[in-house]
Amino acid sequence: MTAKTLVALKGSILKWEKIVRSTRGVDRGQDNCALCKEFPGRDYHGNCTRGGEVARAHADKPNSISVRCPVARRRGHVGCQGTPYIQWANHQDEKHGFYADYHRIPGCAECLKLARAERDFLKSLLPTKRKRPCRVAPHSTK
Ligand SMILES: [Zn+2]
Repeated sequence: MTAKTLVALKGSILKWEKIVRSTRGVDRGQDNCALCKEFPGRDYHGNCTRGGEVARAHADKPNSISVRCPVARRRGHVGCQGTPYIQWANHQDEKHGFYADYHRIPGCAECLKLARAERDFLKSLLPTKRKRPCRVAPHSTK
């Protein structure tokens, strides 16, 4: 993962942290997702993938920009297909009648559960820190 991608991933995690912590945290889809900004949600033909209409991964074109998004790479789809985000968006549409500017509804346990699921999913994409054995030789007294 490149440094820029890591910065974007952390930005997206922060967005969901805010949504989990406060009902004032807002989800504007790709308009306030750092990863979507870093990897614009366009498929190989330039179609917007927002809403998941065009959601097939370009497994044959692994360097296409969308596939470099760690979310897309993990799930094998362009955009957020296959992630908890889809359940979150469906829940917002179906239960709360929102189609933009999603946020948690006070007292709605499902909103909280789905926001946490998305945050935790994004956190799972963070690179794991490998502990390397210390290569520095012990101080010699010779
Ligand atoms: Zn809800």
